[in-house]
Amino acid sequence: MNFKSNYQYLLSDLNKLKGVGNKTASLLKKKKINTIFDILWKLPKSYTDRSKSSKIKDLKIGEIQTITIIPQKYQFPRIKNLPNRVICKDDTGEIECVFFNSYEGYIKKILPIGNEITLSGKIKYFRNKYQLTNPKYISEDSSLIKQKHNTYSLTEGISEKIYNKIISQILQLLPDFDEWHSEEIMKKFDNISWNNSIKELHKPQNIGKFKENFYQRLAFDEIFSTFLVNSEIRKKIKKIKKIKKKFNIKKQNELISTLGFSLTNDQKKAIDEINIDLLSSNKMFRLLQGDVGSGKTIVSLLAAHNTINSGFQVAFMAPTEILARQHYLLAKKLFTKNINIALISGKSKYQEKKVILEDLLNHKTNIIFGTHAIFQKKIEFKKLGLIIIDEQHKFGVNQRKKLSDKGGKNCDVLLMTATPIPRTLTMTIYGDMDLSIIREKPKMRKPVKTYSKLENNIDDIIRFIKKEMNLGNQIFWVCPLIEESKKIDHQSAIKKYEYLKKIFPNQVSLLHGKTSIDEKEIILNRFLNKKFSILVSTTIIEVGIDFPNANVIIIENANKFGLSQLHQLRGRVGRGSKDSTCILMFKSNLSDNAKKRINILKNSNDGFIISEEDMKLRGFGDILGFKQSGIKNFRLADPVHNNDLFLLAEKEIKRIENTKENIGKFKPLIKLYDRADIINDIA
Ligand code: ADP
Ligand code: MG
Repeated sequence: MNFKSNYQYLLSDLNKLKGVGNKTASLLKKKKINTIFDILWKLPKSYTDRSKSSKIKDLKIGEIQTITIIPQKYQFPRIKNLPNRVICKDDTGEIECVFFNSYEGYIKKILPIGNEITLSGKIKYFRNKYQLTNPKYISEDSSLIKQKHNTYSLTEGISEKIYNKIISQILQLLPDFDEWHSEEIMKKFDNISWNNSIKELHKPQNIGKFKENFYQRLAFDEIFSTFLVNSEIRKKIKKIKKIKKKFNIKKQNELISTLGFSLTNDQKKAIDEINIDLLSSNKMFRLLQGDVGSGKTIVSLLAAHNTINSGFQVAFMAPTEILARQHYLLAKKLFTKNINIALISGKSKYQEKKVILEDLLNHKTNIIFGTHAIFQKKIEFKKLGLIIIDEQHKFGVNQRKKLSDKGGKNCDVLLMTATPIPRTLTMTIYGDMDLSIIREKPKMRKPVKTYSKLENNIDDIIRFIKKEMNLGNQIFWVCPLIEESKKIDHQSAIKKYEYLKKIFPNQVSLLHGKTSIDEKEIILNRFLNKKFSILVSTTIIEVGIDFPNANVIIIENANKFGLSQLHQLRGRVGRGSKDSTCILMFKSNLSDNAKKRINILKNSNDGFIISEEDMKLRGFGDILGFKQSGIKNFRLADPVHNNDLFLLAEKEIKRIENTKENIGKFKPLIKLYDRADIINDIA
């Protein structure tokens, strides 16, 4: 097989390599290294310099050194368990090579008497003699030894030597691809080819040289391929022809006039963008991105309303049952009586469910709310025209694509997220969708005042709460999720509940991960109806729910949370017109770094800014839990350090889209870098 210029070679199993048997291959597989391509990104961590050789008389004990010697004599004792020895010399002295558990034949082969041999290893001194024990770097060809040898963070069971052998073998057989990038792009990286970049990447002296052209180019390839696949998906979805929706804009405006507030400009703009999509003959695949409390729900309900008035059905999916119910109730309140609204929940009885399913199928129901349950196979629509998905920032590209397919070609898709992400990541995470952004918060909304307090000063907090309660206000008290143990997490919430109950009898309720769904709903409804004042909970209140009367949130052990998460939690309050407060509690005095983080939160109420800063401090994977969610993790590229490359890739994608450039030449790039199923029908 001719491997040159063939990307298949890089995608083949590691067994293809000389010296890699099933054992080594399975060890690597455990580390998710399945192909030759995968192993290219296992970079050396450091290197051992074996390049300079010493004379025996100058050897330094305890250090790794390289010598060239001539073997003189074998000493192979006939007694079991004694090591074999080889006496060796150079013109300045003598050294003994000591072998435990090595066959005589092997020793004779690697250290033939009278031949010049180069060795490298850690030098010992024992009974007045220099010694080298079980030397691994041995060759008649001194140039093979006198090098810088990479050290990798090794997979157990695979030696450094084998690793280096594997890598050098691969580097020799690297395909020479036709350049896939434009001349313009290549200029930015001094025209270094992919092939040469990989070679440079593995040179010992290049370890950690993140700013060099080879590293930048490879990081760019990675970013660019992600963007390109996203862009292709978007193009593909947008090409799908659908029946245009036709609705009376008057009805929309009538609904708006009943709201009791006026929409913000960003809300209006989002609605316009969505309406253009609904009215067009191309399928909508749009993300509505807006900070907590920016008022996305009403925008999505207007889209639903317009879709229903076009004679189509709508499926509205929320991440939790509580949230689904809240949206359902809001729709009941806003929509006119002739629109039939259903809610499906895990609790729905068999008979109820049957009716719900029937009504959907015969189009008696116009809109249904629920959790992911609404996408079960048995749920069928007569004429589904819009899927709305709330708070699903953790859906990956794959899941979204499936959803879009599931609705059928006449079905538009609107996703919503309250998780603002740094600008550089928009294309990475949401590049497959069109984007509407709500930056502006509703007018009367005041920023939440944010304070930090040491746990010792809890009495101050209690006093503050009393005052707020006297004004008729409600309070969230959040206990952190301690990841190591779910049990402790409950306990800390239960403890706090007991403590507060003593101070405020009949005014406290508790929610934690073990509370049943039924119970949860009862408690939350009682809280909504102001039946009690303090809701102690673990982080389950994080998503979406709207409690306009709650205006204080206490977050315990606040350093357990990321900034974006704290911002989300804080967003639970400050929704009414009252002054609201967020108190972050800490166990001990804050370090300077922690202070910096908390200050970002105190000084800004803008989720976009906070997420940028959070990313700078904590890195990309951590900020939004993307690491767990299967959203692409880069191997080289880093959204904080390679900001410029992300922007460059975005620009290049736009150029390719605008000039309708054929993407055939990117085939090897896409095949290698993005092996998601998605691309099967693209490249
Ligand atoms: P999110 O974007 O976080 O989903 P919601 O849609 O739940 O936010 O809206 C939060 C609160 O703000 C709700 O009580 C909603 O009625 C209210 N709201 C939405 N838009 C406006 C507006 N333009 N003016 C005032 N209040 C608004
Ligand atoms: Mg919401």
